[in-house]
Amino acid sequence: MKLHEYQAKELLRRHGVAVPPGKAATTVEGAVAAAQELGGDFWVVKAQVHAGGRGKGRFAEVSDAATLDAVLAGAAKVPGKGGVQLCRSLDDVKAACAMMLGNTLVTKQTGREGVKVKTVLVTTGADIERELYVAVLLDRATRRLVLMASAEGGTEIEEVAAENPDAILKVWADPITGLGDWQCRELAFKLGLSGKAVNGAVKLFQGCYATYMATDASQVEINPMIVTSKGEVIALDAKMAIDDNAVFRQKEIASWYDAGEDDAAEVEAARYGLSFIKLDGTIGCMVNGAGLAMATMDICKFAGGEPANFLDVGGGANKDQVKAALSIITKDPNVKAILVNIFGGIMRCDVIAEGVIAAVAETGLQVPLVVRLAGTNAELGKKLLSESGLAITPANDLADAARKAVAAASSK
Ligand code: GDP
Ligand code: MG
Repeated sequence: MKLHEYQAKELLRRHGVAVPPGKAATTVEGAVAAAQELGGDFWVVKAQVHAGGRGKGRFAEVSDAATLDAVLAGAAKVPGKGGVQLCRSLDDVKAACAMMLGNTLVTKQTGREGVKVKTVLVTTGADIERELYVAVLLDRATRRLVLMASAEGGTEIEEVAAENPDAILKVWADPITGLGDWQCRELAFKLGLSGKAVNGAVKLFQGCYATYMATDASQVEINPMIVTSKGEVIALDAKMAIDDNAVFRQKEIASWYDAGEDDAAEVEAARYGLSFIKLDGTIGCMVNGAGLAMATMDICKFAGGEPANFLDVGGGANKDQVKAALSIITKDPNVKAILVNIFGGIMRCDVIAEGVIAAVAETGLQVPLVVRLAGTNAELGKKLLSESGLAITPANDLADAARKAVAAASSK
């Protein structure tokens, strides 16, 4: 589960990380009031969307095609204003919020369709002397948490990693004793920090690590971490994700979930406990078991088709889940054929058949349906389907099923 910047900053703040004072708002009036309350004469208005590169992003409503092309290509300089705007007056704050709220921000990470901005974060502006990068992640190779940092903050870290991997410094936390202050200090020195900024950086590093541990995070990224002219070390931006398997025990954070940021079909699938990922092809796949689902996608491609989704209905899915799965697949206008591939182990093929029949009875079937059933109660499942009167193409094995689904999709 991804968090918004303002949510991540709240968690970081609770664990001792210095963040600029700020408030989230969903209306222009609310944002201006927030700026007034924060006081001062320098604010930053930031679009709250689950995508990076907001500063270099541009709004679809006020940009021409060439500008958006430049954004998507990751150009260093793009004309116009984006999802992070520095404001020197309340009028600037008002104008920035009016541009952002309700409009569509296109960044390098969103694709051309962009994302709608529903919330902005208004923060006190900071004066920046240096921009650095820091992140806490799981390093699978060492089975430890790694604190990564780079003196080249602000820019995209992927580019630093590709062009100058030595510029990324790493220290690993001990699973028992955690991250040592000495490790953090050494890292701060290697980043070229000195004086008061060293202690500030140690506090920020430890705060990021503590946040990661306390919130069951899978990612904590600060880009940029800044040093101000006064030597203060502040998290100017924050990106966090919580491990989905731990969300159940992070009740407060779970209540912050913003379903509007995720693909609607994926949200619906999650509600039914289905593992679903939307893809760009034309063959809707309904499969049980992640491995079989992957193999089904592979064999679709091998037969010359493109899967429209990954879908694992799970080992013990019930009729309602199967019904939900089929209706999620059929809602995708790109789907030209559906391939149901079930190996009945714990899952019974007659349950699948019942779910398919119930879904079709409710929503109708606009596209060809190819079904391959094998294993527990396969014969019963096939019998139910053939007696249902539905136009279903039975398949004998996986290769046969894929060939038939690809043929059906291309003839539509
Ligand atoms: P991102 O583009 O989505 O990564 O958003 P960031 O929060 O990282 O902001 C992008 C850039 O805007 C930063 O790298 C800074 O250069 C600039 N910026 C953001 N906040 C401030 C601020 O308070 N003061 C100044 N001077 N620049 C800021
Ligand atoms: Mg950033």
